[in-house]
Amino acid sequence: MGLNRHDGKSLAVEVRYIQRIAALDRRNFDLRALLKAGEALHNELKVESLCELLMAMARERLFVNELAVLLHHEQEGVLTVEAAMGLPEEVVGVSVEARDGILWRMLLAGEPFSIVDLSGMPRFNGVFCGNGLKALRGQTWVPLATSGRVIGVLSVGYPERDGLPAEELEFIGALASQAAVALSTARLYQLNAIARRDLDRSLHKLSMLFNVTRAMGAVSDLTQLLRLILNQAVGSVNAQKGSLMLLDEDTDELVIRVVTGLPDKEVERRINEGELPCKRFARGEGVAGRVLETGESVCINQVDEDQRFSRRDGSHVSSILCVPLVVEAEVLGVINITNRLSGGVFAEEDEELLQALANQAAVAIARTRLYEAAITDSLTGLFVRRYIMHKGKEEYRRSRRYNTPLTLIMCDIDHFKSVNDTHGHPVGDAVIRAVAKALSRGLRDVDVVGRYGGEEFLLLLPQTSAQDAGVAAERLREEVERLSVPIEGGEPLRVTASFGVAEVNLEGEDSLEGLLKRADDALYRSKASGRNQVTVHRAPTTIGPRVSAA
Ligand code: GH3
Ligand code: MG
Ligand code: MG
Repeated sequence: MGLNRHDGKSLAVEVRYIQRIAALDRRNFDLRALLKAGEALHNELKVESLCELLMAMARERLFVNELAVLLHHEQEGVLTVEAAMGLPEEVVGVSVEARDGILWRMLLAGEPFSIVDLSGMPRFNGVFCGNGLKALRGQTWVPLATSGRVIGVLSVGYPERDGLPAEELEFIGALASQAAVALSTARLYQLNAIARRDLDRSLHKLSMLFNVTRAMGAVSDLTQLLRLILNQAVGSVNAQKGSLMLLDEDTDELVIRVVTGLPDKEVERRINEGELPCKRFARGEGVAGRVLETGESVCINQVDEDQRFSRRDGSHVSSILCVPLVVEAEVLGVINITNRLSGGVFAEEDEELLQALANQAAVAIARTRLYEAAITDSLTGLFVRRYIMHKGKEEYRRSRRYNTPLTLIMCDIDHFKSVNDTHGHPVGDAVIRAVAKALSRGLRDVDVVGRYGGEEFLLLLPQTSAQDAGVAAERLREEVERLSVPIEGGEPLRVTASFGVAEVNLEGEDSLEGLLKRADDALYRSKASGRNQVTVHRAPTTIGPRVSAA
């Protein structure tokens, strides 16, 4: 059966039609594949995943079995293999110089090109020989370029085929353009994310340090300061609990001053109030002792496996971060942080952050200690005269501004000269100390007690009327009267004291000096009327049998 002309013609036309339809179908399919690829690529923001996706898509559409994505690192001027399929693993990570030369120009041109000559030998010998790129074994390189910039290249290898037909090259070229845009976005995003994370971290660190430093500057009480430091330290590294230890210079041991995050809040309170003595650490003993000795921080994330950690240090400890508090090369103490919340481990940046905090904290501690030493009387532990006068001015101003009462109590030990004369100065000192203790014991936290002179005391009672202060003074007078100071080889010594009370005049003219003078006058009246009594200046009522109004 032969073909007639007409039949032959129509068959030829049909075949062409079928071919064109098939080609159109393929194009259609290619376009749909590309569209899908584009969507998928643009939904992916991670460079590594994008490389994998690009290779998977190329492999699905083309009959190629060796693929690799090389990315261009502009600063280093190299192309580095980021991911590979169907190739030996060691290919990944291999770099090749990519700055100029023919290869670079071909990449810039953006069209797929062959990297082997007709006999299958590499065209760019200088590039491919002498480094691991030989193992790429590719035949075609498809540049990943966008807006005139080379993002990288897709290396395609198909050892079982002679070459890639035009439509496959076209498809892979189009896929590569999509991928280049996606990769460029992803890299920017990644760089941005890294930059942002670094920025976030340093901002967090800076703002924390700033806040802590500012807060530390505002705290003049050592215990309060230590609490603030420890809470900040524990919070800054997201930990469960912590303790702050200071060096006791007399015994050369670390003593726990504050703890936080203990499961038993009552135990925590008792430790913080100094009611419950804790284990002390000698130099070199345990993690804390080691940090004290070396002045270097220690981070242990597997406590169970670490010999530096002695089990009795504490229970329920899985990780520990211990940093020294150093000022002028002296270790004042250590901050111990244990157990990261959410179970993770302490990272290097946690250690860095904590050390930065500790450096600020150590300065604040040293400063506060100096300050406390400067305002504290060494014999009695009460405030010195200068400080009590400073507080007096402050409280006086507050009282006038907010129209709230303020009362002063002056107290002077009776016939003290004779104590000194009869028993000597050291016994006199012991008496002063005992009276000081009785006075501070008998007052509220807001009241301020200072040593005004040798055996004279000044007490500030904010928000207290003269009448109430008179009652308080009477209670103190009784306390002093009840004291018995033991002396060597004799009966315990008993003393009494006289008190003068005066209140700020909120109605009329007044001054701190005026107030002090009125308290002093009242004290004089107590002395003149027989001592061991309380006199309230211009008080309308008399409190108790031994209280008189001046
Ligand atoms: P009065 O009842 O009138 O107050 O009699 P007094 O003997 O207490 O008299 P006065 O207040 O004038 O005496 C204060 C004495 O306190 C004088 C001084 O030798 C002594 N003194 C002052 N400071 C100290 C100190 O730090 N230690 C000791 N032991 N004695 C001191
Ligand atoms: Mg006196
Ligand atoms: Mg006296």
